[in-house]
Amino acid sequence: MTKTFKQFKLLPEILRALEKKGYETPTPIQAQSIPILMEGHDLIGIAQTGTGKTASFLLPIIHLLARYKKKVKPARVRALILTPTRELASQIEENLKLYGKGLALSSAVVFGGVSSKPQIKNMQKGVQVLIATPGRLLDLMHEGHVIYDQLEFFVLDEADRMLDMGFINDIKKIIKVLPDRKQTVLFSATMSKEIEKIADGILHEPKKVEVTPQATTVEKIEQSLVYVEKKKKPLLLKEIVHERKIKSALVFSRTKHGCDRIVKNLEKFKITAASIHGNKSQTARETALREFKNGKVQILVATDIAARGIDIPEVEYVFNYDIPNDPANYVHRIGRTARAGKSGMAIAFCDKEEENHLKAVEKTIKSKIPLDKRLTDFARTLKLPEAEKGNQSQGDSRARGPKARDPRSRKKRFKKKKT
Ligand code: AMP
Repeated sequence: MTKTFKQFKLLPEILRALEKKGYETPTPIQAQSIPILMEGHDLIGIAQTGTGKTASFLLPIIHLLARYKKKVKPARVRALILTPTRELASQIEENLKLYGKGLALSSAVVFGGVSSKPQIKNMQKGVQVLIATPGRLLDLMHEGHVIYDQLEFFVLDEADRMLDMGFINDIKKIIKVLPDRKQTVLFSATMSKEIEKIADGILHEPKKVEVTPQATTVEKIEQSLVYVEKKKKPLLLKEIVHERKIKSALVFSRTKHGCDRIVKNLEKFKITAASIHGNKSQTARETALREFKNGKVQILVATDIAARGIDIPEVEYVFNYDIPNDPANYVHRIGRTARAGKSGMAIAFCDKEEENHLKAVEKTIKSKIPLDKRLTDFARTLKLPEAEKGNQSQGDSRARGPKARDPRSRKKRFKKKKT
């Protein structure tokens, strides 16, 4: 029997917000988690972004906070949500405001990279829900701006990413000062020994829920591979965006400079684009994301790190402008499309020098990415502007003949160029 949100006996304000947002049925992780949390149990959830996991912890927390109203004293919080990135923190707050509309739950977001003054001010009166990244939260805690004696809920979101990003010690320090009596939720896309250890330390007789592993999400994505010379990638991207009238696409690049170059090229072709990567200020990243979300910018170009955990539900296409050297990133990248039941397209551009990376990716996903022969043939016919022809062969050893394939001769060529 299909579940509806009504079955969870959530407050009418929440049900109205969900209806307005157009959510008809709970996703599998929501169907499993919400009843458990409504009953007051601790929960360990194995699910990645895109499964609807945010609402699966936010909805019951909003319900319980609003159903059993309590005033907070200065600097106090009733619910703490820890998440690895600033983008994710902002998104969670957006969702909180959306689902909790009309319930007057105060909230604050705390993350690094911006001034802490407004964050401290927001905490002065205390808030019902605090969403934070670990580093900045610790700073504010040390200064006495966040106090936990009224804490009732604690969520550790994306626990595996937190560990990947080196937050383990910060998390331990935070956990140590939280009161014992509270309801705790841990979400992670994967389970490892280290996560189990954390879970053991913070969860009390938790119920475990798990949704379809990564591979199944990937199945909904129509993947394809195009062989293309490195120099022709900008042209090919432009042609595909024009031909398919793409309104929103995410383009991944391995490097920050690569991102900027791609944006420059797209803009030359009158395609609106913006990039997010580590060299961009928080404000610039937020602006880029907002403009992409509201359709002002067609293409968002990102590095793997910057894109972690961003939720962009309406993305139609993901381009692997280069093949990632860490094959796990391929799965993360293409997972940005086909979210929450939608289908999506993922196109990978591969030049000859990336074939080893491609092999590693295919080994990881345990299948071959289907070759788009038509696009590969088309890419071959693309004509480079005269000025760029000179070093066109850098990316395609086949085009240069056997001599160029010899790494020693390539070295010489580069050396010669430098001098
Ligand atoms: P999350 O995994 O929490 O990042 O959610 C992924 C996307 O699914 C977000 O864009 C949510 O707005 C959307 N979403 C969450 N729950 C539902 C639902 N029950 N029905 C449709 N979309 C949903």
